[in-house]
Amino acid sequence: MTLSEKDNLYNWHPYTQHQLQSNFPAIVKGENEFLWDENGKQYIDAIASWWVNPFGHANPFLAQAIYTQLTTLEHVLFGGFTHNKVVELAEKLVQILPSNQKKYFYSDNGSTAVEVAIKASLQYFYNKGIKKNTIVAFEDAFHGDTFGAMAVSGIGLFTEAFQDALLHVIRIPVPVKGKEEESKKALQKALAENEVAAFVFEPLVLGAAGMVMYEASVLDELLEICKKNKVFTIADEVMTGFGKTGKLFACDYLNMQPDMMCLSKALTGGTIPMAITSFTQEIFDGFISENTNHAFFHGHTFTANPTGCAAALASIHLLEQPETKKNIDRIHANHLVFEHNIRLNNNVAATRVKGIIFALEVKVAEKQAYYGALRNKLYDFFITNGVILRPVGNTIYILPPYCISDESLHTVYELIEKALNEVVC
Ligand SMILES: *Cc1c(COP(=O)(O)O)cnc(C)c1O
Repeated sequence: MTLSEKDNLYNWHPYTQHQLQSNFPAIVKGENEFLWDENGKQYIDAIASWWVNPFGHANPFLAQAIYTQLTTLEHVLFGGFTHNKVVELAEKLVQILPSNQKKYFYSDNGSTAVEVAIKASLQYFYNKGIKKNTIVAFEDAFHGDTFGAMAVSGIGLFTEAFQDALLHVIRIPVPVKGKEEESKKALQKALAENEVAAFVFEPLVLGAAGMVMYEASVLDELLEICKKNKVFTIADEVMTGFGKTGKLFACDYLNMQPDMMCLSKALTGGTIPMAITSFTQEIFDGFISENTNHAFFHGHTFTANPTGCAAALASIHLLEQPETKKNIDRIHANHLVFEHNIRLNNNVAATRVKGIIFALEVKVAEKQAYYGALRNKLYDFFITNGVILRPVGNTIYILPPYCISDESLHTVYELIEKALNEVVC
């Protein structure tokens, strides 16, 4: 039996209808932007393995940092203890995050980073005896799959089975071009009619919605409205963080600063699951009290795991190398040239680029399901041809590791063009 066949016997995959899908490629090795399966077939990982991997697979620098940490101190509980790597990481975060982000809470993944932000928002007001029970979020947002994160996510098929068991959330339109006023009005209305604790958003790019983009200026206006109404703002930078938009964080494009930020995905360079929720001093101070019950009673067993912290430090070190900025700019420039050319293709409805993210909407007669027929045809075409891309609905996007070569990038572009001409008809 092959690895793929054995996998079918035991394993339950995410977002997968197992009646329709089986025999997934079994990956046995990775290097830079490449992966190889058990048959020796090579793939270009054009989505950085779900947006986590800026510096390539099996990166030796990250591996060395992790090995050194594992053989020094692999883990210690963070309840009642601290350690050198988390202190070093915090000192680094102070330097790179927006200047108002002063306190850091650690967890394991993007969903938990969002849960922590939402729970802290609600408890902050609870501690003060103020009733605020509502969260505002964007339609079509994705913030994760645990209950709180799911409640603030808007993608219907991910959450429809659980509608009776979710937080109170008001959804406002994403302020894409032409919808800015509608979005602002909806926010103002939501704040006027509800006891809103926080507004959570993916800054500038909504990843899982299909790399939907909007401008920093309108986000500044939304944040201004929240500030005036004493509503906390939560920037979910789980996808956008660590360089993907061309700046270190998408929030670096703003004049305003969010009250909280959620970080995960590329935090450890795609090596160890880890997440951070960062806070202003004001929020942290809302939990300081003579009353023990006012503490934040939230934690995860592996909170601030030293090996994860060491991986994050090593990854941020790579991120700060001039070479990385050059790569990000190089990919961005390549995307712009491809965008200019592919726009003319008859099967293209729209294109957009931000930093290293490129997205293209295929022209379709009717709205396509998230995991619909066109998406599946395209996905299979790309995999068959050795490129990992996961279109959503009728959107094809590229989010490559920063180390991807021009040659690989052009292979990806050419295959997308071929798909538009041969698969989409
Ligand atoms: C992926 C993602 C999450 C959830 O992260 P997980 O690690 O999958 O739990 C949350 N927010 C955004 C914006 C994401 O892209």
